[in-house]
Amino acid sequence: PIKSTHISDQDKYAISGGIIFIQDITNVKKLEQIRTEFVSNVTHELKTPLTSIRGFVETLRSGAINDPDVSEKFLEIIDIEAERLYMLINDILQLSEIETNQKDTNLARHNLRPIIAEVLSILEGVAEKKSIRLIADIYGNVSIIANRDRIKQMLINLIDNAIKYNVESGTVTVKCFKAEGKVVISVKDTGIGIAQEHLSRIFERFYRVDKGRSRNMGGTGLGLSIVKHIVNLYSGDIRVNSEPGKGTEFVIQIPV
Ligand code: ADP
Repeated sequence: PIKSTHISDQDKYAISGGIIFIQDITNVKKLEQIRTEFVSNVTHELKTPLTSIRGFVETLRSGAINDPDVSEKFLEIIDIEAERLYMLINDILQLSEIETNQKDTNLARHNLRPIIAEVLSILEGVAEKKSIRLIADIYGNVSIIANRDRIKQMLINLIDNAIKYNVESGTVTVKCFKAEGKVVISVKDTGIGIAQEHLSRIFERFYRVDKGRSRNMGGTGLGLSIVKHIVNLYSGDIRVNSEPGKGTEFVIQIPV
């Protein structure tokens, strides 16, 4: 709508109609651009591990295979890169599934308490390796209408990050409670934190604060993008507070 005092109502209508039309085209262009960028990013992300796999196979073929120690090391790298490819493809499929199948299937009312407990037990092993304490603080009856697998995925991605980007012997606290017709889920860590200038971009596909670190941790750069898509699916919102060197908190609110 136009904020103007010096044109007639009729003009306003005509002009605002024109502006809406222009915005439409801008949106279509923007979407197209996002899609093109995504395809080019995906291609790059898939090529990197593939190139590495082919390189190590080639080196093995041209003699390294005769040294058992070297070949064991190279095979391990090939295995890690293949695993990365697998995770990437999984995440890309998940994103496109959420995007194209906007109307979610298998919707039912789910209590979040057992889902949080299940996710924490799945990630217990990963946390133990860094001596990280996982804490759950759940108040009252917290339930939402959703697809169970999606909610589980959302929690896995957030809690997995909270462990990955945490310090040794750190803590991850998952809080869940009901407030003003919404279920609030908070995932808070005592990790490395995120600098202010990155905060608005971390939900973008393939955006990482530190590419090397994310790669070493086995990250695909799609985790938070998937989380945001799932939150949107249930008309919720997600916010992040962070202080470098202190920790990060993600807060999700989903209407009951
Ligand atoms: P990745 O697979 O790289 O972890 P994500 O989409 O899950 O991708 O996250 C995007 C980036 O946001 C990460 O690479 C990391 O830099 C940053 N990030 C996400 N969660 C946290 C966290 N809990 N603490 C610090 N940084 C985080």
